[in-house]
Amino acid sequence: MDKDLQGKTALVTGAASGIGRAVALLYGQHGAKVMVSDIDEEQGRQVVAKLKAAGAEARFFKADVGDPAQCYRLVQETVAAFGTLDMACNNAGITGELSRTADYSLDGWQRIINVNLNSVFFCLKYELEVMLKQGAGSIINMSSILGQVGTPTLAGYVTAKHGVIGLTQTAAQEYAAEGIRINAVGPGYIDTPLLKDFSAETKQALVALHPIGRLGRAEEVAELVIWLSSNKASFVTGSYYPVDGGYLAR
Ligand code: NAP
Repeated sequence: MDKDLQGKTALVTGAASGIGRAVALLYGQHGAKVMVSDIDEEQGRQVVAKLKAAGAEARFFKADVGDPAQCYRLVQETVAAFGTLDMACNNAGITGELSRTADYSLDGWQRIINVNLNSVFFCLKYELEVMLKQGAGSIINMSSILGQVGTPTLAGYVTAKHGVIGLTQTAAQEYAAEGIRINAVGPGYIDTPLLKDFSAETKQALVALHPIGRLGRAEEVAELVIWLSSNKASFVTGSYYPVDGGYLAR
């Protein structure tokens, strides 16, 4: 494995499971020191143990990304532990309520926007403060194919993921000249615990929406995140990259 991220530091939210876990593990394989963050402490600590067993330096910090104070402390803890913050993947997210727009509860709406959109702003804000002082950094915000198109019963999720792309494009322009790159990634349906409430029938119907003929794997998303994080993507900023088995090409 190419240790092209040796000596660099990375922060990943939602890193106890699915895509975030795969991103954290791949950062480690590329030589980075990794701050694993999640609300699930037990699973998060297992990811740290796996990283350490593979020879990487890693820590866990429990943070609910829906709370700006916890996002602030997460960034501070990362810098205190590793000295810098070179790369961040703002990945934590939930599906939220499944209902048509008129039936969507007010509480459910506030919650999905807070966990999937406000959280990205909170993390980005505090990560940028550190990266501006360093004069360098690379941030990847986890959007979705549903950051580009709508789908019934997921109004809150779709709105939040569209917002993540707009936020990414805006911040990328603001900080491009100061050495900070900011990009968004848009996975198609990936077989992770996020889909645990979907029936086998629904999953089969989702497969049919991907010309490649299957759901994605978390590791396939992680490969894109690591590339965007690295200097190999030195001219890439403000972009939205789908990794979706052809979903958006239909
Ligand atoms: P996942 O397997 O459910 O992992 C998400 C992790 O984030 C879980 O450990 C979860 O903890 C944690 N989390 C939830 N709320 C949090 C909060 N408020 N603060 C901190 N951590 C929190 O999901 P995934 O499929 O890897 O999804 C990761 C990201 O990719 C999400 O932003 C999702 O929207 C996006 N995405 C996923 C897919 C897909 O098909 N899987 C497609 C497109 C985009 P708990 O398990 O305790 O809730």
